[in-house]
Amino acid sequence: MSEFELKEIFDLLCVWYRQAKRDLPWRNTKNPYHIWVSEIMLQQTRVEAVKPYYARFLEALPTIQDLAEAEEEKILKLWEGLGYYSRVRNMQTAAQTIMTEYHGKMPADHKALLGLKGIGSYTAGAVASIAFDLPYPAVDGNVLRVMSRVFADGQDIMQQQTKRFWEQKIQTALTPQNAGEVNQALMELGATICLPNGTPKCEDCPLRVVCMAYQQGRMLGFPVKSEKKTRTQEFLSVCFLTDGTHIALHKRESGGLLANLWELPNIEKEKPLPEVLAEWGIWEAEIQPMRQRKHIFTHIEWHMEGYFVFVKQMTKEDTPFVWVTQAEQETNYALPSAFQKIWKDGLSEMQNMQMSIFEK
Ligand code: SF4
Repeated sequence: MSEFELKEIFDLLCVWYRQAKRDLPWRNTKNPYHIWVSEIMLQQTRVEAVKPYYARFLEALPTIQDLAEAEEEKILKLWEGLGYYSRVRNMQTAAQTIMTEYHGKMPADHKALLGLKGIGSYTAGAVASIAFDLPYPAVDGNVLRVMSRVFADGQDIMQQQTKRFWEQKIQTALTPQNAGEVNQALMELGATICLPNGTPKCEDCPLRVVCMAYQQGRMLGFPVKSEKKTRTQEFLSVCFLTDGTHIALHKRESGGLLANLWELPNIEKEKPLPEVLAEWGIWEAEIQPMRQRKHIFTHIEWHMEGYFVFVKQMTKEDTPFVWVTQAEQETNYALPSAFQKIWKDGLSEMQNMQMSIFEK
C-alpha cells in the first residue's frame, strides 16, 4: 500500500460521506467540548441511544466550567443508563484540569489532549481533527474493521500493535484539510455499511472498487480477531426492599465496579436472605421471588435472582440504606442499568400490592 493509494481511497470515501452522512447533532458543530462529550458517550453506546443523553448533558452542563464544578451526584444522574460511569468521572477530572491549566479552553494540541484523563488516542484524534483540523487519526474498532477488509490485512485487531500500525498508516494520508472528514467518513462507513459479523453491505459501498477483501470474495475473513477472555460469572440475590412507599437504596463502595453509584441491596446468592435481612435491621418481612435477570459487563456477567421484600418491621437507623420514593430516585439517585430491570419488576409488584390492599 502506498501513501498515494490511501489518499485516493480517502478521496473516494469523502465524496460518499458528503452525500450519505447521517444528520447527527454533534456533526453540526466544531465546538471541541461538544465533540468531546459526543465521542465519550459514543464509546460502547449506540448512536440512537446517545442522542437524548447528549442533548440533556449539554443543556445541564453547557460549558467545561459547568462540568468541572458540578456535583458528582448530578453528573452520575445525567449518565444514568449509559453505563461505564468512569467515563463521566474522568471527563470531570479532565474538565477540572482544563480549567486550571488551559484557562477553561480545550487545548488545540494533540499531545495536550492525550494528557487529559480519559482521553486516549481515539478521542484525542477525533477532537483534534474534527474541532481543530489537526491531521491525527481516530482509530476504533469500526475503523480497524474497514481498513483490514479494504487491504485484506490479516493482523489481529485485538493487538495494540495492529492499532498503532493503522494509526501510523492513516496519519500519512491526513492533512489539515481532510483529517476531520476522513475520520468521520471512516467511522460512518464502519457504522452503516461495512458492518461487523456477516453483514457488510458491499453493494452500497463506495470502496467496493478498491476493497481487496471484496474483490477476493473474502469479506467475512476479515478482520482477524483473537478470542476475548471469557467473563467471570457472578450470582447474586438482589432485593427490592420496600415498606410500601419507600424503597431501599445502598451506595456502592468507592473502588471497583460501579464505584460510588446507588444499587438495590444485594448479596451473594449462597447467603441465606432471612439472616442477612436481620443483619440489616429488618425483623419481619414477606419475601417473594421475582424474575431472574442478567447483566453483562465487559469482564463480568451478573446472574441475579430478584426478591420483592415487603418490610413489616425494622430498625430503620440500623439499616445501611437510604429509603426513597420512586420520584426521589428518578430525580436524585443514579441507578445503573444492571439494576433497572429488577427495579421495574419491584415497582410493578409494589403497585399490585397497593391495589390489592385498596380492593380489600
Ligand atoms: Fe466493507 Fe464490503 Fe466495502 Fe469492502 S466492499 S469496505 S467489505 S462494505
